[in-house]
Amino acid sequence: MESETAARRIAVFGATGSIGASALDVIARHPAQFRASVLAAGTQVTALLALCQQHRPDHAVIADPQLYTQLRDGLRSAGLATQAHAGAQALDTLAASDACDTVIAAIVGAAGLSSTLAAAAAGKRILLANKESLVLAGRLLTRTAAAAGAEIIPIDSEHSAIFQCLRSRDASLDGAGVRRILLTASGGPFRGRGRDELAQVTPAQAVAHPKWSMGPKISVDSATLMNKGLEVIEAHHLFDVPGDRIEVLVHPQSLVHSLVEFVDGSTLAQLGLPDMRTTLAVGLAWPHRIEAGVGGLDLLKQGRLDFEAPDLAAFPCLALAWQAMDAGGTAPAILNAANEVAVSAFLQGKIGFLSIPALVDNALSTLAVDAADTLGVLLEADTRARHLTQTAIEAA
Ligand code: NAD
Ligand code: MG
Repeated sequence: MESETAARRIAVFGATGSIGASALDVIARHPAQFRASVLAAGTQVTALLALCQQHRPDHAVIADPQLYTQLRDGLRSAGLATQAHAGAQALDTLAASDACDTVIAAIVGAAGLSSTLAAAAAGKRILLANKESLVLAGRLLTRTAAAAGAEIIPIDSEHSAIFQCLRSRDASLDGAGVRRILLTASGGPFRGRGRDELAQVTPAQAVAHPKWSMGPKISVDSATLMNKGLEVIEAHHLFDVPGDRIEVLVHPQSLVHSLVEFVDGSTLAQLGLPDMRTTLAVGLAWPHRIEAGVGGLDLLKQGRLDFEAPDLAAFPCLALAWQAMDAGGTAPAILNAANEVAVSAFLQGKIGFLSIPALVDNALSTLAVDAADTLGVLLEADTRARHLTQTAIEAA
């Protein structure tokens, strides 16, 4: 009986972020089934300590080694038995250890790749929010997971929708029987604006997403449509569907999270309120369904569902991502790294909004693309693209 089995131990990497908060909310609703056994954050040690008091994990990790003492002493003075760790290596070790059965990979950016790979190699269930790791090293990650029997469940509303629709077909996650995938996009805060109107937009405007409450990096990615570009690459790797069978459909209400069209002409969609707790509940309990604290959809109240084509001229990042996916090899790693550096500079007020696609384009057209055979080659491409983009920002 399920009630008699021990609670699944969940490692939440990126616990202090937006996905981390949603994950801990769902976990806390089901104490008999799930327990947060490892909590990890980048630099927010105070927030991490508060989460430790609340969830009492076995282990807490702060990625920044300089904050180790603060974490250890904070845990001690709170009287917690939680063991303190620091550094990226500790994340890899814990991801692979028997401290957890499931890893929620919710670190933002390429910084999440190493621990995600470690969880994959150890055969864990991975609830993968960190889409950047799939963009940077998609094939390596999916192969590592397959070889070790790790299960990857997407924590991205669109990909969770596709995952759920595909399960109507058979148990596999490959592209058989699929005619096309329709990835929906809210269009972000600047939907409907032309390129000229985007030159002066501020970071505060860019992170004010109309439908989703998310961390700053993915919010800017949603505003440039790079997020949708990363998601096309993510879908390609997760579902083994070639890029020319993935289409993007702007849907401002963000209620239809994506659709799958099958070869028999049937199209399935998944709908729900824009709340990542639904997606996390799917990943935590799959193939079962559990309460997530999210209400149902009142379609009468919502009234209408609109769809339109994306504006590729105003939002060139989407086309750049397609281009990188088609080029293959290290091109998506270059795209991702240049974008991370550009978004960070935009958030710090160092560059304008339109410089983001310009810098990504510059990296893609300047750097040579190699075959992405090894992690070393991919990380080198990542480093080169970061350096090139940083230099271009400083020179401007
Ligand atoms: P966020 O900025 O709110 O949180 C990021 C988390 O990562 C924080 O806990 C931070 O401490 C941690 N972190 C940052 N750098 C780190 C490092 N070097 N080492 C260890 N930890 C580090 O971001 P978010 O919105 O929660 O997004 C997290 C990931 O989930 C991203 O990849 C994003 O694309 C993806 N995602 C988010 C949403 C959403 O609704 N927020 C939806 C889909 C996908
Ligand atoms: Mg998404």
